[in-house]
Amino acid sequence: MKGSYNFGRVFLIEGSDNKTSQMDLNPGGVIGNSPSIYGWGRAIPFSPEGTALSQTMMRSVISLGLKNNENSIPTINGWAILCCPFVTKKLHLITAPSNECIPSIFWEQIKSGLEGLLMHLAKVPFHYFQPVFFAGVIDDPILLLKIKTLGSSFLVDCGQIDHIAKKAMKRVEAVFITHAHMDHFIGMDKFTRSILVSDKTVHLFGPPGIAEKLYYRLKGYDWNLVEAKYCAFQVSDVYPDHLQCFSLRGAEGFAMRELGMQEKHDGLIYENEYAWVHAAQCDHKIPCLIFKFTEKPYFLIDEETIEQRGYLKGAWIEQLRQGLLKNGDVSQPLKVPRQSKDTIEEIVIDDYAALYQQIAKKQDLKSIGYLTDIGFTEENRQVVVELMTGASILIAECSYKKEHVGRARKFAHLCTEDCNELVAQIRPQYFLPVHFSKIYLNETESVYDELEMPKNTTLIPLPERLTPQPVLAPSYNPLSGI
Ligand SMILES: [Zn+2]
Ligand SMILES: [Zn+2]
Repeated sequence: MKGSYNFGRVFLIEGSDNKTSQMDLNPGGVIGNSPSIYGWGRAIPFSPEGTALSQTMMRSVISLGLKNNENSIPTINGWAILCCPFVTKKLHLITAPSNECIPSIFWEQIKSGLEGLLMHLAKVPFHYFQPVFFAGVIDDPILLLKIKTLGSSFLVDCGQIDHIAKKAMKRVEAVFITHAHMDHFIGMDKFTRSILVSDKTVHLFGPPGIAEKLYYRLKGYDWNLVEAKYCAFQVSDVYPDHLQCFSLRGAEGFAMRELGMQEKHDGLIYENEYAWVHAAQCDHKIPCLIFKFTEKPYFLIDEETIEQRGYLKGAWIEQLRQGLLKNGDVSQPLKVPRQSKDTIEEIVIDDYAALYQQIAKKQDLKSIGYLTDIGFTEENRQVVVELMTGASILIAECSYKKEHVGRARKFAHLCTEDCNELVAQIRPQYFLPVHFSKIYLNETESVYDELEMPKNTTLIPLPERLTPQPVLAPSYNPLSGI
């Protein structure tokens, strides 16, 4: 019996949202493994027979966590797929001969694997954000930044878009483009196609002129059969001190209409209920934006403070949270029980916000800095350091090795030594180098070798796979390494 079960090689599967995460992948696609952003891999596209799993089967993927004490693991077409929250390393993919259960003899082994993964979980710095970098270190940059609580996402640059499932694109609420060099903007047609038949309005931000560039791209198609429910873009050209806004509506064949000017304060260009987005302009021989995505503080009470004030915990805390965050009924005064010597009195509070200010726990804000395609000039450096200091994860281009510094200067890119200097100054918790020049396709480790991190900064390791592989590539054997 034992001999008929194989432990397959280890795969990365995105897994922080058990119900939907698998749907972000195209079957057969290569994914950036999420919460982690820390690795890349091929996600469950194959059954042992080598056929791609269907979307329906992917929907049926089984999620397991440590709390699951069952003794056996069901399988789909011979695959048992273990999926646990915030996986940052690797998951075990186990093969079985048919739709049988994996016997309990394997459970301890699986459990210890999951425990290892969950140890890593503690380090994931975000509360709402779930970044997925789909481009590996070599491909055209694209970051999908999911906001778990909202179920929506940001798309940052629009390069190698092929492996993001249509369904995931439909949840994108805003797109942020650093600049319109082809490698950062080429995915826009496919993105538009994916959301075309919907009544969505997607916000798009980019350097001055981006609205016109999107307009001319879309003008390359015929729009004589448009429908009223086609999607629309609200596009903002981002200038240092203001935004120039335009509307491009599918129902009008994406004609460009000027909406007017919006002032910009402290670099803030966009916000929703859970995030702020700041931008600054660098020089790449053309204006190039850099972005910082910051989680808004979440509702958190300082237990010590409420104890000092004598407030007794109760339903009022949830009422306060609902009132502040979910637009609950704030016309109802809060009745807060308070211990006063030997008696409990009830104090009535009308001002929810003022009460929360008194008892909120101070939080360090978590953020993702994204910078790519900038020259290493003194001006750029100042702009970068000012915006990115305090970033939890810094995602930055690392186009060239130091021996090719001349090319880096010529094409206004960063080399490894530039990255080392910036990281030493910014001191992010994590650093993810991306957008390596393709000249290092077969020697990406040597780029990594030149990266030196200061104390307390973790270099996110080199992904297992650097570029997407075609489905059923002859060189690819999902069972190798058993
Ligand atoms: Zn580029
Ligand atoms: Zn560029």
